[in-house]
Parts: sequence; structure tokens; C-alpha cells
Amino acid sequence: MTESSKYLVVGAGLAGAAAAWKLAAAGHEVTILERDEPASHRGSSHGSARIFRYAYADEFYARSVAESRTLWNELEQLHGADLIDPVGAVDHGTHRDPEQLARVLVAVGVEHNLLTADQARQRWPQIQFESRVLWQPGAGVIDAEGSVNAMVAQARKHGARLLTDWTVASVQERSHGYRLVRDNGETFDAENVVIAAGGWLPQLLGQLPLPSGFLAGIPKFTVRQEQVFHFHYREANKTRQAWPTFIHNNGNIEVYGLPGGRDAGFDGQKVAEYNGGRIIPSAADQTGVVDPANRERVVDYVRMNLPGLDPEPYAETTCLFTNTPNEDFVIDRAGGLTIVSPCSGHGAKFAPLIGEWAAGLATGTRDVPARFRAATL
Ligand SMILES: Cc1cc2nc3c(=O)[nH]c(=O)nc-3n(C[C@H](O)[C@H](O)[C@H](O)COP(=O)(O)OP(=O)(O)OC[C@H]3O[C@@H](n4cnc5c(N)ncnc54)[C@H](O)[C@@H]3O)c2cc1C
Repeated sequence: MTESSKYLVVGAGLAGAAAAWKLAAAGHEVTILERDEPASHRGSSHGSARIFRYAYADEFYARSVAESRTLWNELEQLHGADLIDPVGAVDHGTHRDPEQLARVLVAVGVEHNLLTADQARQRWPQIQFESRVLWQPGAGVIDAEGSVNAMVAQARKHGARLLTDWTVASVQERSHGYRLVRDNGETFDAENVVIAAGGWLPQLLGQLPLPSGFLAGIPKFTVRQEQVFHFHYREANKTRQAWPTFIHNNGNIEVYGLPGGRDAGFDGQKVAEYNGGRIIPSAADQTGVVDPANRERVVDYVRMNLPGLDPEPYAETTCLFTNTPNEDFVIDRAGGLTIVSPCSGHGAKFAPLIGEWAAGLATGTRDVPARFRAATL
């Protein structure tokens, strides 16, 4: 027997969970189909630490973070606990251009300070600084998996269903809506479908009934198997509270770091090279094996730039980036199919806003920024 739902959301990462929450909260009948479980360990939203920051060179994104923060407040209130730990953030390095980031924050009205390298060294002796430093006290660490679960719980509170171990193999167009075919041949019908399949999207696109012109307009995705490493704090700087999140780009390497969360025992800093992972055709091709050359680069970086950390990683894992060439998100719609790909390594902080954008586009009640609708324009 074929089941049906007015709205189907494919994927329960941060994007799918947020879309399902916003659709269900608006009173729609929603079912989430997830190939694994929410915040799958093979996707992009697992673990408990992502950077929440306002600093973007592009004012559009800084403004969107401010809009997103309001929705995070709403989610935290509904959830009954914080999902963002406000540890603050520093941005530094000549190629990170802290002065330009500060100009954007002035324009958006976000609290910040621009410090000299000496001032920053005095405040955070555990970090080496060679340039001016942007400090954002309102930044912090997002509990990614906790946020997925909180949004799925909100969706379910409004009547949404969650079906796990349900892999969508293809989608067929019907006279009214769509038929989703599971990998074992089962089917599920819906009037509208939101596809939030993360790193599986590039492969799935070929199995969707999308007009060829629409498909041709979607930017080329690059899926990377990224890797992150956890380093213990040295004795003098042991507490997690002493560490902000950071992004450092000196022209040779771009590295980000943040106090590790639950999955690393809250016991050290998570550090990674941005876009340091190898390119794979699709999420299905990930191995979960850390590249030793990347580990060596990150360990060398920690040894030279983070004196407050023991440069021997005590934990490591992989995760997927699904990048577009200009790192803009893709949120676009053809008929009753809405495609949502908000990654490029920076989508977590926008999660509730992505839910609003995706749900609004799918229901025809809100438009999304034109830059995300490349295929339609
Ligand atoms: C290492 C790492 C660090 C990051 N750091 C930051 C950061 O500091 N700040 C920030 O803002 N962002 C950060 N991000 C980005 C952020 O985590 C992503 O933007 C976000 O997790 C993307 O979520 P998603 O829902 O699009 O994808 P996913 O979380 O991958 O969700 C997709 C889901 O779809 C399911 N699925 C796939 N195919 C099917 C199918 N055929 N049928 C059914 N289900 C399917 C998958 O199992 C998965 O659960 C980081 C990402 C990574 C990987």
C-alpha cells in the first residue's frame, strides 16, 4: 500500500529538520524520510560543535546571521535549553582581513572589537596572532546534533512523522504530485517534496523529475570528505571557557577551531583545515578514513600557532562539505519539488532561517534571496 503526505521532506540533517519544523509549525501535514537517522554520522550535521559567527566579508550573510539568531532564540525557548554556547569568536590573519569584517559588522550593527595582535596575545596567550584581530562576543558553538533533534522534536510536536532507514531511490512525477520510490521498491506519495539530502544530492539530482533547463542552472556541486581533529588543552589553559572559536587565514592555510562538544568529552579544541579534505563524487563514496597528510598539516599548524594545545590529536573524524563554486546556498523550486543545499561548510548557523526559506518557498508563502535560485532565474 502506498502511503501519502501533503509534504515530504527527504533528509533529517540541519536543513531537512529545519524545513520540517517550519512546515509542520505552519499547520501542514509533513513526513520526513531519512535514509539513516536524524543527524546521520555519514552526513554533515553530526557531532556537537559548529561555529556560530556574524563575521562575513559579504554583508548579506552577516545580516542573515542576525536574522537567524532571532530564530535560534525561538528554538531554544521552545526546546527549553540553549543550543548555542556563547564563547565568542576571533578572526585573524592577513587573508581573513579582520578590518573588512569589522566594517561589515558596523554596517549590520553587531557588537565587536578590533584588537591589535599584542592586545589579543595578552587576552588569549594560548593563540599566536600576527595581524589585527576581530573579536565577536555574540559568537559561539552550535550543538549541531542537539539542534537537529530539537527541530525534529518540534516538527513531531506539530504532528510530523519521521521514518528512518527510508532511502529515497527516485522520484516520479504523477498527475497530482509525486511518487517517491524507496530503495526496496516501496512507495510514498506527496503533493510537495523538499529534498535536503546533503552530500547525496548531486547523485540524487539525476533521479528527480526536474526540467532540463532547471537542472542546467544548478551550480556544480563539489563534495569533500573533510576531517577534524581534537587536541587537549594544556594545563594552564585547561578550561573550555578560556577558548573562543577562531578562523585564521594567513594565505598559506585557512584553519578554524572551536571548543569541542559532547562527542569529544568537552575536553579540548576541535581544529580543522577549511576545505582540506579530498573531493569525492558523492556522499556514497566517502570512506571515513582520515588523510594522514592532512593530519600532519593540522598537527604542524597546532604546534606552530596554538601553544595552548597539546599537539597530539586525541580524537578525529570525517564529515562532508557540499560546496558550490561561490559558496552560496541552493534553495530553489521547480513545480512541487524544492531543492535545499545549504552547506559549503557554513550552513549550520543559518539552520532555522533555512527552514523558513525552504518552507516558505515550498508553500509559496515566502521568497528566498535570488542568489539561491540560480536554476530558476
Ligand atoms: C566538518 C564540518 C564543519 C562545519 N563547520 C561549520 C561551522 O563551523 N559553522 C557553520 O555554520 N556550518 C558548518 N558546517 C556546515 C554545516 O554543518 C552544514 O551546512 C549542514 O550540516 C548541512 O546540513 P544538511 O541538512 O544540508 O546535510 P546533512 O546533514 O548531510 O543531511 C542530509 C541528510 O539527508 C539524508 N539523505 C541523503 N540522501 C537520502 C535519500 N536518498 N533518502 C533519504 N535520506 C537521505 C542523509 O542521511 C542526511 O541525514 C560544517 C560542516 C562540516 C561537515
